[in-house]
Amino acid sequence: MLAFATDVPVGRLILFCAASAFALLTTLVAQDLDLLIKGGHVIDPKNGLNGVMDVGITAGKIVRVAPDIPASSARRTVAATDLYVVPGLIDIHVHVFHGADPDAAYSNGPNAVVPDGFTFRSGVTTVVDTGSPGWRNFPQFKRQVVDASRTRVLALLNIVGNGMRGDPYEQDLTDMDAKLTAARVGAYRDVLVGVKVAHYSGAEWDPVDRAVEAGKLAQVPVMVDFGGHQPELSLESLLLEHLRPGDIFTHMYAAVRGRIPITDEKGRVRPYVRKARERGIIFDVGHGGGSFFWGQAVPAVKEGFLPDVISTDLHRGSMNAGMKDMLNVMSKMLNLGMPVDQAIAASTWRPAQCIKRLDLGHLSAGTIADVTVLRLREGDFGFIDASGKSLPGRLKLESELTVREGAVVWDLNGIAAEKWHQGN
Ligand SMILES: [Zn+2]
Repeated sequence: MLAFATDVPVGRLILFCAASAFALLTTLVAQDLDLLIKGGHVIDPKNGLNGVMDVGITAGKIVRVAPDIPASSARRTVAATDLYVVPGLIDIHVHVFHGADPDAAYSNGPNAVVPDGFTFRSGVTTVVDTGSPGWRNFPQFKRQVVDASRTRVLALLNIVGNGMRGDPYEQDLTDMDAKLTAARVGAYRDVLVGVKVAHYSGAEWDPVDRAVEAGKLAQVPVMVDFGGHQPELSLESLLLEHLRPGDIFTHMYAAVRGRIPITDEKGRVRPYVRKARERGIIFDVGHGGGSFFWGQAVPAVKEGFLPDVISTDLHRGSMNAGMKDMLNVMSKMLNLGMPVDQAIAASTWRPAQCIKRLDLGHLSAGTIADVTVLRLREGDFGFIDASGKSLPGRLKLESELTVREGAVVWDLNGIAAEKWHQGN
């Protein structure tokens, strides 16, 4: 260094050092992105983005979304021309408490599925398990599912302490404790985002009211799977009296025994259902194995009664029937006439708002980089409802690429992969 300094005039040395520093800086700037998703049609409802833009990701976070981010600034660039680039999808109705107890139904039993096996391939990066565990078996659910999954797994805790273990557990009023449920939610706010009530077949309102009570105590929303009560309970009373604004009515297009459907015999949306929406009740698809009927969805959409949120009610029965996966349910809504940007909003920012997780469902700079790249295919497709009837459709969404916390977790056609050639 000394020898160098004596050989070179001081002015030139300063110039040299400045030039070196600048070169180093530009190199750093040049490589500041780990991943650049380039030229896709970005739909980010929270930020009002709906157009061709690039998305830059570094260290698991969104760095910037802007037109024309140079490919030279990224270590890896994915061409997303003619594809939609959207926040990682949020499915707010799934059953993922899979387990080895053959008698435990959806709560550590065989009816629930492994999240990572079904999420990324359909563009989903966050799921909300809806009531598979209750306060008693939540610790097991957390260890077995939440902590062991790459998918972000959140949950609504069942008002039944034993969760969805089937009957007689789900008929046991003595195991529906608002205080203990709320206490568990309060202790695990990073995972537990609400309360669920479902499957009770008695004539009492107690399960609903206790779930709402738990929701009030913990200041979280309640999701209701309503129906099957003997005798039938009033839908109007549920929507206008028992639920609070912000609570979620799932299975909105169901037509099942023991529950009044949302449209009447003439296909008109019942006035009190519209009133419920006006007072802030959230309407969720919750397709499932038995809760989506063309006879409800077609007239309701025709009357403009679209879902606030789109979800699957994923379990081993629904995914092998008409539901299939999140993108299939979204595709159904597109074919019924829901605009693409609204279907994306109902699968990203709207569900995030419903569960009060405002850190999710958008592409703001600094947020965790959960991103989904979708292809909207046009062709001749068919879609089946819960009664087994099919409708044709021209549109079908497909997940090309799913990114979870900056890492590629699904790449259908290798668009993010390095090209193979002999010798590399
Ligand atoms: Zn369900």
